[in-house]
Amino acid sequence: MREDINEKCAVVGIFGHEEASKLAYFSLHALQHRGQEAAGISSSDGKKLHTIKDRGLVMQVFNEKNLETLSGSSAVGHTRYSTAGDDSILDAQPVFARYDLGEMAIVHNGNLTNAQEVRTSLIEKGAIFQTFMDTENLIHLIAKSPKDKLVDRIIDAVQRIEGAFSLVFLSRTKMFAMRDRFGFRPLSLGRLPNGGYIVASETCAFDLVGATLVRDVEPGELLIFEKDKAPQSIKVYEPTPKHCIFEYVYFARPDSTVYGQSVYQMRKNMGQALASVEPIEADVVIPVPDGGVPAAIGYSQKSGIPYELGIMRNHYIGRTFIEPTQEMRDLKVKMKLSPMIDVIKGKRVIVVDDSIVRGTTSRRIIRMLKEAGASEVHMRVSSPPTTDPCFYGVDTPSKDKLIASNMTNQEICDYIEADSLAYLDEDSLLKSVNSTVDEEKYCTACFTGKYIV
Ligand code: SF4
Repeated sequence: MREDINEKCAVVGIFGHEEASKLAYFSLHALQHRGQEAAGISSSDGKKLHTIKDRGLVMQVFNEKNLETLSGSSAVGHTRYSTAGDDSILDAQPVFARYDLGEMAIVHNGNLTNAQEVRTSLIEKGAIFQTFMDTENLIHLIAKSPKDKLVDRIIDAVQRIEGAFSLVFLSRTKMFAMRDRFGFRPLSLGRLPNGGYIVASETCAFDLVGATLVRDVEPGELLIFEKDKAPQSIKVYEPTPKHCIFEYVYFARPDSTVYGQSVYQMRKNMGQALASVEPIEADVVIPVPDGGVPAAIGYSQKSGIPYELGIMRNHYIGRTFIEPTQEMRDLKVKMKLSPMIDVIKGKRVIVVDDSIVRGTTSRRIIRMLKEAGASEVHMRVSSPPTTDPCFYGVDTPSKDKLIASNMTNQEICDYIEADSLAYLDEDSLLKSVNSTVDEEKYCTACFTGKYIV
């Protein structure tokens, strides 16, 4: 259960379906795990764009009545995670604007690394910003571009930005999807049952609306959706894949296919690798729910140690009143997790989690297991130590708050009060996702400090 590292957003785009906004709504439900603080949808009826966005979960922002106002056969949607203290509705997406070519709405997953530089230069030229979002830079860059067509303006604009972006743009008649040259954040293309198209951060959204996966939007590719035409592809950049490996470790839903591979299978592979490189004698393997479940299953399968549910998670705790602050995180762990005493009492327990960020959650879980009667608790982590913050669209604590950045493994083990602690090493992690260090296909910066941009 990760309360201290979060995806910032999810995006979806629907094109060529008469119930576009409803499909966007259902897709956002499937993508809710990527952001719970705000949600929004813009639709186009061919003449005008309609937008609804607000703070809250998808089911709180939308209802049957307001969805009816989002008419048209194309729509883009967004869910957002906000950082502490940042509660402005203005920072919810889609970002909507009127400009000389008409109307436009943009949804963005990622983080622009040169956002401040671009913003300062735009402000010096007279631009007025309404929000703190780096996404607003794109609106200004598109509006100010001297090109005649929107597609050329989008290409112009994305060539001025750097960093991580999976973007979907909606105009009155077209939709555009674009991924940065590194493909940091996922974005997949699917086909709707009626022949329309969907793009979404994860394929779990496709399953819900009955879409079939066509392929990923390639790194550096711009897809153009136009009525009665197959999507047109423009290679804006030569692709240089550096996919976020943390999608496999924690962010993506296990029932999604990300970067062409099953997230569930990748996580099980990590657990199996962990059992091979970090074995220990024990009576039972239990996961930290929900993130540690597939890796714990993999660990159990490889080691032959029985898998049990040793910790129950209470899923029925609302999120809206809980702000992402340390105090609330502490309370939330107590509210959310409880031990299965019959499974744990008197047992040597291996507890598997996907990562350790600050260490406070792990310590509480291990204390809870010991209080429930575990004779030993061995912590196994299905990724390397998280030592560095992310600048590519994931909300991580600063380096001084990352426990692995400030303590040795033994010190962390002592701090979390485990009988032993072991992590999956970088080589084994990459092998688990069918890659190698030499291939350099994945971003691993939060484990290695090797930043790409
Ligand atoms: S730094 Fe970590 S979380 Fe950020 S993109 Fe790279 S692997 Fe993903």
